[in-house]
Amino acid sequence: MSWMPVVFVALFGLIIGSFLNVCCYRLPLGQSLVWPSSRCPNCQTPLKAYDNIPIIGYLLLKGRCRSCGMPISVQYPIVEIVTGAVFLGSYLIFPTPLLYQRLLFSCAMIVLFVIDLEHRILPNVITLPGIAAGFLFSFFMPPGWVDSLIGLLIGGGSLWLLSEAYFRLRHEEGMGFGDVKMLAMIGAFLGWKLMLLTLVLSSFLGSAVGLAVILSNRGGLKYALPFGTFLAIAAVAAGAVGDQIVTWYAGFYR
Ligand SMILES: [Zn+2]
Repeated sequence: MSWMPVVFVALFGLIIGSFLNVCCYRLPLGQSLVWPSSRCPNCQTPLKAYDNIPIIGYLLLKGRCRSCGMPISVQYPIVEIVTGAVFLGSYLIFPTPLLYQRLLFSCAMIVLFVIDLEHRILPNVITLPGIAAGFLFSFFMPPGWVDSLIGLLIGGGSLWLLSEAYFRLRHEEGMGFGDVKMLAMIGAFLGWKLMLLTLVLSSFLGSAVGLAVILSNRGGLKYALPFGTFLAIAAVAAGAVGDQIVTWYAGFYR
């Protein structure tokens, strides 16, 4: 394997990560993704072209706005590095055309993770086209449209039933409809098996973090991370190595 395409894919991932930062910031505010150009959220000074270079721009600015000195969130370089790593990993794992499907899926999960963490919402503008895109892809590649359709229906349906049951029992909203649509999207992209694996992994992850929050006595479960963040991490993991986990698990029942 030549190193050239590997480096190219990683750099391309960093640039896409820079665009995902724009999505994370502007989508919840209902702003356009292409206009105006990137600017400081505090003093509205437009960024110079070289400030937009992933990671390097952040380092050159030493994490502060050039004109007003307002700190720039470390989230920006982190999202860029994570996206670069996801692109590199996906390139090494997936054959085309599945690679394109998984890259689009992972980008959506990264944006949903950040927006859910900051705003506690999972915007329809990502999840609804996501459901349609996942189902369309499935006609041309794994998991195939039947598995995709079952995943979409069971994914959305199961969380919807759970949130209904929770609401009837506790009379408070335990889970938003955003989570319902997000799991439907995950089912559409990954198929029902990996969707169920995502649900199991995210529940483990959520319980572990919830327990850590309770043990460290920092205000109980209400302050735990939103469920969509766990779903996003679990879905990318299930999409990458889920088939191996499912095969290994099914081996016990043979
Ligand atoms: Zn500024």
